[in-house]
Amino acid sequence: MIATTGIRNSDWDDWRWQLANSVTTFKGLKDYITITPDEEEAFHRVGERYVFRVTPYYLSLMDKNDPSDPVRLQAIPNIKELDDVFHIDQLPSFYQSEVGSENPLWKEGQTDVSCIIHRYPDRVLFHIANLCATYCRHCSRKVHAGRGSMVSDQTLIDRGIAYIAERPEIRDVLLSGGDPLTTGDNKIEYVLSRLRQIQHVQIIRIGTRTPVTMPQRITSEFCQMIRKYHPIWLNTHFNHPNEVTPEAKLAVERLLEAGVPVGNQSVLLRGINDTVEVMKELVHKLLMARVRPYYLYHADLVRGAEHFRTSIATGMHIIENLRGHTTGFAVPQYVICTPLGKTPLNPDYLIGSGPGYIVLRNYEWRTWKDPDRLDPM
Ligand SMILES: *Cc1c(COP(=O)(O)O)cnc(C)c1O
Ligand code: SF4
Repeated sequence: MIATTGIRNSDWDDWRWQLANSVTTFKGLKDYITITPDEEEAFHRVGERYVFRVTPYYLSLMDKNDPSDPVRLQAIPNIKELDDVFHIDQLPSFYQSEVGSENPLWKEGQTDVSCIIHRYPDRVLFHIANLCATYCRHCSRKVHAGRGSMVSDQTLIDRGIAYIAERPEIRDVLLSGGDPLTTGDNKIEYVLSRLRQIQHVQIIRIGTRTPVTMPQRITSEFCQMIRKYHPIWLNTHFNHPNEVTPEAKLAVERLLEAGVPVGNQSVLLRGINDTVEVMKELVHKLLMARVRPYYLYHADLVRGAEHFRTSIATGMHIIENLRGHTTGFAVPQYVICTPLGKTPLNPDYLIGSGPGYIVLRNYEWRTWKDPDRLDPM
């Protein structure tokens, strides 16, 4: 797919071209989409606070003339990012001291090694890059996004590897960022090969949005390289059916052919995917691309992204209307991140109980009394 004339196919299909030609300025943006004067003002004011970058590929998915296009809303700055609409007094004290500076959740699990987040006993997040191909306006790390060097430096990465090597309880390593796939294959192979020398590391996971925002990144060479380090799992971040394009499907296909299971972590976003219809279409398209919906994140409480947040009821309504109404494994686990970690949110199907029985309901709200075993106390 070519957005503007004069770009060679071989360039368009090259991730390094996509990255080097990512749009970071207002002038560049105007070549791809139509911008109103209001949006122009917003662009400049928001730009003073948050970083902006979009790949030509991701821009090509947007409706040029529709400011409420679901892809556009995820990547083009909006004046609402400057609203500080938190009702601070109503927040728990934990949040009160933190809101306004960053996402409070990111304090949790921080270690002496700044690239390692260790919140759960057996697994760590390992940030190996700071850059993203496209910056999501809803990113829960938006204050950090784009800061620092393009790649976490070598000494820091080595300290991260040492942290993992010293702790036999770590069996699962999640490579994250930024987006780890904004770095070259050599850098990624270095990390993978070093991790594979650590006996207790069982699985390695890659968290990347490149299949969605820069699918050209998933080259055959990259897939040939990572298959040497199995078991590797990969989770990506599709939020809207319009993102499931032939290019994205090709990227997924290559990963699957290399034996890498591909999962999806969506964020529930107001005005983008907060209806049953859109979410159902998304999960169905993902299944057809053989991507397994994994998590649906409730949008975090983050400065500059409050306009994306929905109520919990909206998320519960969506899950209620997926479970039983579609393929079981099309239904992601809805989660909210709290200072205690990820917490699953599920509609109740066990709606009552008594001595020797339970009362269940099904997806159509028909109820059923089922015998339960009375265990001796
Ligand atoms: C989400 C997350 C993980 C991984 O959680 P899973 O439920 O195993 O996918 C690990 N560490 C941190 C800090 C996380 O936020
Ligand atoms: S790709 Fe991930 S880390 Fe990067 S801006 Fe988007 S949500 Fe944030």
